[in-house]
Amino acid sequence: MSDPLLLDGRIVSQAMRDEVKERTDELKRQGHDTCLATILVGDDPSSATYVKMKGKACEKVGIESKAVVLPADTTQDTLMQTIKELNEDPKVNGILLQHPIPSHLDERAAFEAIHPDKDVDGVTSASFGRTGLDFGRFPSCTPGAIISILDYFNIELEGKDVVVVGRSPILGKPVSLLLLNRNATVTICHSKTQALAEKVSRADIVVAAVGKPEFVKGDWIKEGAIIVDAGYNPGNVGDVEYDACYKKASAITPVPGGVGPVTIATLLKQTVESAEKSAGLLV
Ligand code: NAP
Repeated sequence: MSDPLLLDGRIVSQAMRDEVKERTDELKRQGHDTCLATILVGDDPSSATYVKMKGKACEKVGIESKAVVLPADTTQDTLMQTIKELNEDPKVNGILLQHPIPSHLDERAAFEAIHPDKDVDGVTSASFGRTGLDFGRFPSCTPGAIISILDYFNIELEGKDVVVVGRSPILGKPVSLLLLNRNATVTICHSKTQALAEKVSRADIVVAAVGKPEFVKGDWIKEGAIIVDAGYNPGNVGDVEYDACYKKASAITPVPGGVGPVTIATLLKQTVESAEKSAGLLV
């Protein structure tokens, strides 16, 4: 078989960032700034790095970032009050609560406190419901990124058999809803799924969202299948056995440089959409 098409997320991400920059410039011309507020609770180094990366990405496309840092022993009341203030701040268009947050805090309650119109990271149940009902914004960023990659490379979804491995609330479940909205036939697999390899082997498109390095094996894959690897494990390893899957696939996302960069670009895109909506430029 010939080499598969590389679904290069860096290309998709750059195209999306260029478009976001044009849109923030246009907003600026009309007197509106665009701002993403990030909340970091505690001093987890990877969370701090992620927040920093997102701040830098914002800067490059003309989005201001307002970084709120709370100590690790922050109370639930303080966190909820912080979110309330950001909800009420007309200068803030999007709110991102970096997760995971310290275990003494109720993460779900904090997510739910984010106003759905500012939920550019797509973590509230309102956003999840809107994703399921296929109206309004915003989907969770990684699922949105996966659809953007497939669209960018003109991969038809209608009528395709898609197997999603993983059913987390931020990834497996919402990406399944987005694929279903696009008329794919979706099978959602999880840790209690029986005969997983056999199910994967019937898929036209496989989405791996497991969180286990090289979990999806090359010999599970149908010749010519399309593989989207959302996994990101230590050592830049995805959730699929890349070399073996590469030999079978007609298209595949690399790790790194696949879904990851498009996830950040999706956050930027959703922030500018929120700003356009509050400026009355978008319904
Ligand atoms: P998660 O919350 O840990 O969920 C993992 C899912 O995999 C669960 O639904 C679990 O099933 C399922 N699973 C675990 N073991 C399995 C098995 N043996 N067979 C079948 N399914 C199994 O993880 P997540 O947050 O969705 O993240 C998944 C991956 O995506 C991770 O590698 C993460 O780093 C990556 N990720 C990447 C981005 C990005 O921007 N690229 C963003 C978010 C996450 P149960 O529900 O039955 O437990």
